[in-house]
Amino acid sequence: MALCSASTRAGRPCRFAARRFTGLCVNHDPEYQHIQEANRLIGAQRSVESRTGAWREALASVPIDLATVRGRLRILEALMAMDLAGQLPAPIARRLLRSLAAATNVSANVPKGTVPP
Ligand SMILES: [Zn+2]
Repeated sequence: MALCSASTRAGRPCRFAARRFTGLCVNHDPEYQHIQEANRLIGAQRSVESRTGAWREALASVPIDLATVRGRLRILEALMAMDLAGQLPAPIARRLLRSLAAATNVSANVPKGTVPP
């Protein structure tokens, strides 16, 4: 893997991988600047959405019932629908799915009859 031929702002050799035809990395290749800029904008937008976004409102309308299979499936369906609609930031989706999996594991390991259905 060839390294980028440009230098960092500090004057050291850039250590990023060079793109195939330019010998420059994605940070130094002027042809790639517009893509980097678009990625920065998307990142900034997602960051704002994850803090303030509509997903909070959408999620608030989902009844949270972790004690039953039906309740967990309803939550999973809502999460999938929001994810497919692009409403759910990936870190939030991961966190919620981990919680859902934990609830499913707890439910599966509780002996039948010890917890109300
Ligand atoms: Zn570089």
